[in-house]
Amino acid sequence: MRAERSRPEGFPASGHLPGLSHRTTLAVRDVERRSEEYYVRPGATALALRRYRVFLTRSGRRPLYPRSVGCSCAECAFQDVRHSRDVLEWTLERLRRRSRGELERLVTALDAVYLKRTLPDPFAARRPPSSQLRGPRPDPWWYDRLSEPPGW
Ligand SMILES: [Zn+2]
Repeated sequence: MRAERSRPEGFPASGHLPGLSHRTTLAVRDVERRSEEYYVRPGATALALRRYRVFLTRSGRRPLYPRSVGCSCAECAFQDVRHSRDVLEWTLERLRRRSRGELERLVTALDAVYLKRTLPDPFAARRPPSSQLRGPRPDPWWYDRLSEPPGW
């Protein structure tokens, strides 16, 4: 693994994205800067990636449950790992091929862990779409997992 300069956690806008090249980091920044999406601001992708990783690296072998958050503001929304995954998808859809491939490799590896550590929701298809970021479009597959309502 490449050595990475350590940067303080919590300052995604100033730093780089762990595991990504400088070039891709700049490409992500650029996409975020141009964003007119309420949930995507500079640093959003780094934050989403961190939230996704933190969710998946909880110790133990018990299943993990994504949790809805009571507040839908741009900051709180990231606490729902599914929203963080939405943001990663949003960025992936806007990157050019080379940068997209780089970020995609990281996300795909995390997706495999997500599928392993969460449980399928047999009733997912009956629920109305809940993704804040994707609006009325059908929820993507990462919403089809058993979750906890807010406040559990
Ligand atoms: Zn909030």
